[in-house]
Amino acid sequence: MLDLFGQKKNDFLPEISEEELSDQEVMSELKQLKQELREDLLILGHHYQQNDVISFADITGDSLALAKHAANTNMPYIVFCGVHFMAETADMLTRPDQQVILPDLNAGCSMADMANNEQVEKAWEVLVNASSQKIIPITYINCDAKLKAFVGRNDGAICTSSNAEDLIKWAFDQGEKLLFFPDQHLGRNTCSKLGIKLDEMIVYNPNMQNGGVTTRQIKDAKVILWHGYCSVHQGFTAEQVLAIKKDSPQTRVIVHPECSYEVFEAADDAGSTSYIIDKIEQAPAGTSFAVGTEINLVNRLNDKYADKQIKSLSPYQCLCTTMYRVRPRWLLASLRAIKIGKPINVIKVDNETRKYGLLALERMLRKSK
Ligand code: SF4
Repeated sequence: MLDLFGQKKNDFLPEISEEELSDQEVMSELKQLKQELREDLLILGHHYQQNDVISFADITGDSLALAKHAANTNMPYIVFCGVHFMAETADMLTRPDQQVILPDLNAGCSMADMANNEQVEKAWEVLVNASSQKIIPITYINCDAKLKAFVGRNDGAICTSSNAEDLIKWAFDQGEKLLFFPDQHLGRNTCSKLGIKLDEMIVYNPNMQNGGVTTRQIKDAKVILWHGYCSVHQGFTAEQVLAIKKDSPQTRVIVHPECSYEVFEAADDAGSTSYIIDKIEQAPAGTSFAVGTEINLVNRLNDKYADKQIKSLSPYQCLCTTMYRVRPRWLLASLRAIKIGKPINVIKVDNETRKYGLLALERMLRKSK
């Protein structure tokens, strides 16, 4: 039986119940096991993970930073506390004898699920038939490995929110039109920052016939955006930005580019999670920030920089529920399995997908500072 991502279900998580171990016992066994396995194990933690999990990460970072660390480690086991597409990316960047483990196989990404290979192949056919101009496909790293391979095969590349600007510039050096998926907001915000007008961009909706666009619109468009989004970042609104500016004009509003164009435009600043962290770190004591990104990161920044006021832009909990699936108990199950030499939840990308996916990843890594 296969799980959500086509992995073998019999590798699934052996439950460590609360009856078997209390939360405290889980944390203490984790500490001990991490120490025992230190010669063989690298734990990567995405910024959106909960604090208890992050406390065991050897390296924390955003997708780009973690992908680079995965590519550079010699450790035989890499436990990726993040979501499925990140573990797949790490597997593509590591040697075949290294094993990448995702503590909970159900930790996915709702945005990545908004584009699949069949839909993108179909869209490609529609677009290529409609226009004689060279179209370069760029995918946000938040996607299935098969889509990374698709862009690799079709002269395109991958980007993250840290390097989207560089990769989109690169795409326009290679061709005349851009297909950007799955996040319409990152695509629109970055293209607009590069001077492309909103009316030069169209949105292809895979749930509509011919993507809901006409041949004329495809011919005229410079950028074709996919109808995908992050449900966490799309929750922020321009009204929230305006309310902060009215009630507390000294507060700096800084948002992630997965937010809508209206929020991106209304905010004082925008950038990847690493960019947001750097900006907050470098700000003088006493600065107030309203941050438009995932709540675990915002709360952690608030705890870390006690001399600054850091709060979420939204009054609601903007939590990535799929990232939140990774819990210390699942991490412990992964480490126990490594200790007995029978790792579970190992993520493996097939050779054909890896070959072309790597091509696209290497194009990105060459363009990343
Ligand atoms: S925050 Fe959004 S884009 Fe990031 S993993 Fe969660 S659902 Fe996906």
